[in-house]
Amino acid sequence: MTIDLRSDTVTKPTKGMLDAMMSANVGDDVYKEDPSVNALEAKVAKLFGKEQALFFPTGTMANQAAIKLHTQPGDQVICDKYAHIYNYEGGGASFNSGVSCKLLDGNRGMFTAEQVVEAINPPDFYHSPLTTLVALENTTNKGGGACWDFNEIKKIRKVCNDNNLGLHLDGARLWNALVAKNESALDYGKQFDTISVCLSKGLGCPVGSVLVGDTKFMEKAIRIRKIFGGGMRQVGFLAAAGIYALDNQFERLAEDHIKAKQLGNLLAKQNYIKKVEPVETNIVIFELNTTYSETTFTEKMNQQHIRLSNMGQGKLRIVTHHDYTDAMHSKFCQVLVGL
Ligand SMILES: *Cc1c(COP(=O)(O)O)cnc(C)c1O
Repeated sequence: MTIDLRSDTVTKPTKGMLDAMMSANVGDDVYKEDPSVNALEAKVAKLFGKEQALFFPTGTMANQAAIKLHTQPGDQVICDKYAHIYNYEGGGASFNSGVSCKLLDGNRGMFTAEQVVEAINPPDFYHSPLTTLVALENTTNKGGGACWDFNEIKKIRKVCNDNNLGLHLDGARLWNALVAKNESALDYGKQFDTISVCLSKGLGCPVGSVLVGDTKFMEKAIRIRKIFGGGMRQVGFLAAAGIYALDNQFERLAEDHIKAKQLGNLLAKQNYIKKVEPVETNIVIFELNTTYSETTFTEKMNQQHIRLSNMGQGKLRIVTHHDYTDAMHSKFCQVLVGL
């Protein structure tokens, strides 16, 4: 039994999901004739109260398309120094959209409305890049699954309105925040111009992300997706997995959060641990003291067929997910205590 806690992307489709995929009604989505894709897009748009949604193969492509929708080459995007769009999308913001990022020194991947105000370049000061977009991430990946305070988001929306800036949410794990904080997708839809969500993380789909927004922002999205090489044909087989996941595997994210909290609490009590970051959703980031190096620790885990991520700078990461069973959880807890 391998216990793979590197990411919530390692899950495999459940029997129910595979059945839904196998029986999907499909067509050529490049002609917009795939009923399952159309149904998924309508479902997600409705969930967020937005006019349009578009299915993407990956969250990276959805975010990159969003950046392109909101900016012109030479513009500047305000985001946190931990942002996925800056750190983990291969430099796509500059490659695809020709924009630079103004990095904010936030707390666990989250920043304040005041920080945004300070980071905006005055539009008439033509020596500096023109600020056109603010991008948030919820939950924060590198920030350890932290959830934003919704009031701060509202304040940032106001700053964006006052300064004519677009507001994008990288909501790869927004589902986790909604469950953890009992928030509504509709409220998020009201604050953001565009939101990307992943189906392939906690929801357990093999592939897929969706970008939602109002027509004003989304009308060019399908062209950009085409340019990025993301027009797919009978992709309803994958969209069907997304519909199934939203209907059947959404509420259960709470179980991942419980297990992650238990692991966080357990780790905090071990003498080889220096620090555990607060656990809010399904990600646990921790640091070791001098008892073990990260490499030794990871090797010890590997010997027990337990896999986790080394994030560098002394940080290790665990992510709980659908395929991390109760049996795996008790074994992992025993291993951590017995080390
Ligand atoms: C996973 C993730 C994405 C998208 O990743 P893909 O692997 O391209 O689907 C985007 N943002 C965050 C915060 C993520 O965790």
